Amino acid sequence: MTSAQGNPENEQKRRRQAAAEVNGRQVNEAIERGHGQTDTAVFVCECGYFGCTTTVRLSITAYEAVRTSFDRFLVAPGHEIEEIEEVVERHVDYFIVVKDEGTPKLVAGATDERAP
Ligand SMILES: [Zn+2]
Repeated sequence: MTSAQGNPENEQKRRRQAAAEVNGRQVNEAIERGHGQTDTAVFVCECGYFGCTTTVRLSITAYEAVRTSFDRFLVAPGHEIEEIEEVVERHVDYFIVVKDEGTPKLVAGATDERAP
């Protein structure tokens, strides 16, 4: 290890996971546009797992509540990735997570640790 910046592979993985979440969000924005405020719609999980096809039904209003900040994402329960985000709201059918931007070093350190 010569780098003081942590493990570049982890960094790359985190970036890919973040990109996957943004893709999910773009799909959901299109879904949202196709519905009125009072409707429910089926949204795709915005988690960072590749190939995740889980969907979550919630109202447009509830999805709007997820989107009150740019760093909040909709994920199915259990799809949160603790390395890159934090669950801030737990609902029956979905969780809301917030990007963990400020602690990449802590993240890299934690993922390098091996359980005894
Ligand atoms: Zn998912």
